Amino acid sequence: MAKRILITGAAGFLGSHLCDRFIKEGYSVIGMDNLITGDLKNIEHLIKEKNFEFHHHDITKFVHVAGDLDYILHFASPASPIDYLKIPIQTLKVGSFGTHHCLGLAKEKNARILIASTSEVYGDPLVHPQNEDYYGNVNTIGPRGVYDEAKRFQESITMAYHRFHGLETRIARIFNTYGPRMRLNDGRVIPAFIGQALRGEDLTVFGDGSQTRSFCFVDDQVEGIYRLLLSDYSNPVNIGNPDEITILDFAKEIIKLTGTDQKIVFQELPQDDPMQRQPDITRAKEILGWEPKVSRSEGMRITYEHFRSMSKEELDKREH
Ligand code: NAD
Ligand code: UDP
Repeated sequence: MAKRILITGAAGFLGSHLCDRFIKEGYSVIGMDNLITGDLKNIEHLIKEKNFEFHHHDITKFVHVAGDLDYILHFASPASPIDYLKIPIQTLKVGSFGTHHCLGLAKEKNARILIASTSEVYGDPLVHPQNEDYYGNVNTIGPRGVYDEAKRFQESITMAYHRFHGLETRIARIFNTYGPRMRLNDGRVIPAFIGQALRGEDLTVFGDGSQTRSFCFVDDQVEGIYRLLLSDYSNPVNIGNPDEITILDFAKEIIKLTGTDQKIVFQELPQDDPMQRQPDITRAKEILGWEPKVSRSEGMRITYEHFRSMSKEELDKREH
């Protein structure tokens, strides 16, 4: 009998790639999503699979799945700053009530659950690179707090279920991940810059562009998550690519990649925007034997090709 896995946030960027991977591994996959930031287009190719079913459901409401479950991957949550600033209460609710419901379901089914945490639990970090023992520097009452604190609560309640109920839990602290199926207009820097280059607009660098990020290609991320789920390790593990770059240099890379001659314009840095971010992946290497394999130039080439194939109509669609 195929192992059965529930993936929340299945119609989103990471969730849809995870559905693909687990279908490929021979699992029976239940994708759940309320489509608030996701798109059914991301999983439409799976609908014909006999081992895939989709449940349209808001997980801040009680979550029920008939039959046995072996695993849960809990990925539902807005993930781009623009999304979670637009829907702050839903963001807090999916990280808190949504996570509670998923943990309750895991307990009922005696299933192992992996939750999608984030590098944002480190906030604007005072330790560099960030390792899992760092407690973070988050402004609880700032605009980003709705996401960061929801994710910190998510980690706490997950560890409580692990310690108190003996539930098998896994915590992935995911660092900036990119690739095909990101929403072009979700405001995250990679789709934002690529969209601007494709439309012939100036690239908007926030602040002076000296803040850093470290971008991980989606295939590497999925491999890390897959290995973590199947491991026996219940403390948090950073999954990301340590190759760090300033946002200004990254904008210049995009101009080179797209072969356009767009100008760079500087706009105000959003409040509490972390100044530096780079994962220390020593733990993932030791415990999972995992490290990223796809270079930024290769991953960005694939991602750019994906967006380049979009119609003009899709490119021009604005959300904000
Ligand atoms: P995404 O917005 O593409 O996907 C999130 C999905 O969750 C969407 O399909 C959305 O409709 C769904 N969702 C949101 N609220 C829901 C609810 N109440 N009920 C049911 N479904 C709901 O974002 P993503 O980049 O794929 O991120 C997925 C997960 O990974 C999130 O939990 C995010 O916090 C985490 N994460 C992502 C990154 C990254 O770089 N992509 C980094 C760190 C953490
Ligand atoms: N950023 C930018 N221009 C944009 C969008 C984002 O300079 O059009 C910056 C943003 O301020 C941040 C970095 O790029 O410093 C990464 O932003 P993103 O929203 O992708 O992710 P996060 O801040 O959550 O890491």
